Amino acid sequence: MGNCKHPGCKELGTHTWALVPVCVEHRKAIKLETKQYYLRKISYQMRTNYMGIMPLIPWSRKE
Ligand SMILES: [Zn+2]
Repeated sequence: MGNCKHPGCKELGTHTWALVPVCVEHRKAIKLETKQYYLRKISYQMRTNYMGIMPLIPWSRKE
């Protein structure tokens, strides 16, 4: 099992978000951000935890 893919995070990637290994805390943070984003409480750019792993999400890559 690899580490959490969030930049600078040394925790074990025991969970996943969009197939990317993340630790339990980052998964929680990203889930909260996503919820707030869809409720329009935060902007897309404010999803900093999500942004951290976004380059690793297979379908987020632009060809
Ligand atoms: Zn983490």
